[in-house]
Amino acid sequence: EKSIFEMILDKELESEIIYEDEDIFSIKDINPIAPVHLLIIPKKRINTINDVSEEDTLLIGKMVQVAKKLAKEYEINQSGYRLIFNTNDDGGQTVYHIHLHLIGGEKLKW
Ligand code: AMP
Repeated sequence: EKSIFEMILDKELESEIIYEDEDIFSIKDINPIAPVHLLIIPKKRINTINDVSEEDTLLIGKMVQVAKKLAKEYEINQSGYRLIFNTNDDGGQTVYHIHLHLIGGEKLKW
């Protein structure tokens, strides 16, 4: 069964893709918790951070590079932001296809 993000990538679900390269894409979160709330998503389906393998190391690093680039593009690189991977139930993960939340644009409360 496809994840929501695979459906977006395959154009089966409507969403504006704000960044794309051969490994990664990014969309705006449909339910933003701050003025800037983007999701950085690998095209490769990995269910949770627990499933990240040694060979995914470069991919995870690239996701951080994309987050850095988007933080600058959305002009929150100086004010600050948060990068989050939610994992499994206690972590609040709802979509089982790893994604990095990029959140900022206001003073964040923990
Ligand atoms: P998580 O709870 O960490 O698994 O994050 C999943 C995120 O995906 C949530 O913040 C949702 O608001 C977001 N989300 C779910 N469906 C969509 C969608 N169709 N387009 C954009 N964001 C979505």
